[in-house]
Amino acid sequence: LFIALEGGDGAGKSTQANLLAQALQSSGYRVVRTREPGGTEVGEKLRSIVLDHGQGEIDARTEALIFAASRAAHAEQLIRPALAEGKIVITDRYIDSSVAYQGAGRELGEQRIRELNEWATSDLLPALTVLLDVAPEEARERRAEAEPDRLESEPDNFHERIRTAFLNLAQARPRDYLVLNARSPVEELHGVILQRVRELL
Ligand code: C5P
Repeated sequence: LFIALEGGDGAGKSTQANLLAQALQSSGYRVVRTREPGGTEVGEKLRSIVLDHGQGEIDARTEALIFAASRAAHAEQLIRPALAEGKIVITDRYIDSSVAYQGAGRELGEQRIRELNEWATSDLLPALTVLLDVAPEEARERRAEAEPDRLESEPDNFHERIRTAFLNLAQARPRDYLVLNARSPVEELHGVILQRVRELL
């Protein structure tokens, strides 16, 4: 079973990915909890190329291709083999992050970014995507608390475009998506996610 967590920065994806992985492991499932960009040695190197460079140092197309390359390695080297062994894979971000960030946020075109990434992963798609929906202003407050040093240089409508793109993706594929309000209490969100995942097992 392949599960992706999606949402803007500061939505609480990592927290929910960890809680879900722990809960499933306690029930005896073999779980791989991973993240993007990253997830493999090559992927983590590509992640640092993108994240260590300041705003504007990497142009949008280069950035999109690096994320796609990182995802190709992730799908081929880690996700597919784990699924083939019958493990549950939980990833913190996947293709829809690129559709939202590079496609909508950086305005490269959502359809093209989707096609690029479906090619990169040989069409490996999650059975369930959990979207933790959060308003950009709220996410900024959460990030400032968690990572006071993180540079906040994107214009406000960048995050608004990303949020809208995620919501549109969820609306287009209602059966593959679980949309939750990221402001809900952590334990409550965890309960709803776990329930939905159990239905798929
Ligand atoms: O999810 P995480 O916070 O680890 O992501 C690291 C950074 O990469 C975030 O600031 C996020 O905005 C950015 N990112 C991006 N495009 C993606 C995925 C992540 O710009 N497709």
